[in-house]
Amino acid sequence: MKARITAIVLAAGKSQRMNSDVQKQYMIIRGKPVLYYSLKAFSDSAVDDIVIVTGEGERELVQRTIVDRYGFHKVKAVIAGGKERYDSAYAGLLACEESDYVLIHDAARPMIGLEVIERAIEGAKEYGAVVTGMPSKDTIKIVDDKEYAAETPPRKNLWLVQTPQAFSYRLIRDAYDRMRREEPEKNRITDDAMVMETYGGAKVKLIFGDYLNIKITTVEDVLLAESILEHLKSNGEEDPQSE
Ligand code: C5P
Repeated sequence: MKARITAIVLAAGKSQRMNSDVQKQYMIIRGKPVLYYSLKAFSDSAVDDIVIVTGEGERELVQRTIVDRYGFHKVKAVIAGGKERYDSAYAGLLACEESDYVLIHDAARPMIGLEVIERAIEGAKEYGAVVTGMPSKDTIKIVDDKEYAAETPPRKNLWLVQTPQAFSYRLIRDAYDRMRREEPEKNRITDDAMVMETYGGAKVKLIFGDYLNIKITTVEDVLLAESILEHLKSNGEEDPQSE
């Protein structure tokens, strides 16, 4: 039987680092809301369906102004997220219990392309747990509480982690269930791979994402996102804006 693959798109964040009234997932870039671009990419990919996780009060608006407006038929649910990213991811997992594989993706990364989605799906099937990322180009320092350099890990071992992060449904669901039973470690969790590393039953394999798959976090990132989209368009490459 064909494996069922679901994309969970996380868009329930409050964008506290953005310094703006508009949450980053709804900011308009090249005429479309940021959330549009990842929905478009997953709609064009091999995933079977999409779950959008957003703020409780934003579900109707997202359904009407993005899902219905652009005809994203693979979206099977628009559900409410929670206080932290891991609460939102867990809500997404509960909404696709019949899936065999899930790709968990931050709506704040609109530059997601079809090749990365394809690699994530293949990776999930092969390894059970994969995260996309790229080797760090910069030297990275671990600092102490007063911002003095404390340690410099070897650069060849450092990757910057992106989304999608892709898993066998059973493996990631079991890891999340265990995390919810064992609260104490929870607060330092910032991505799904950490849930798997801390509570799960599989090693997490890093696979190549794309240096262009940036996360929009601060206003500078909006400028970058605009110029990346402009570049993709002028190169005649796949234009995530086309309908
Ligand atoms: O805040 P951060 O940049 O880590 O958020 C990453 C993604 O997770 C964003 O797309 C954001 O909308 C989502 N998120 C969420 N629920 C939260 C916090 C963040 O869906 N409680």
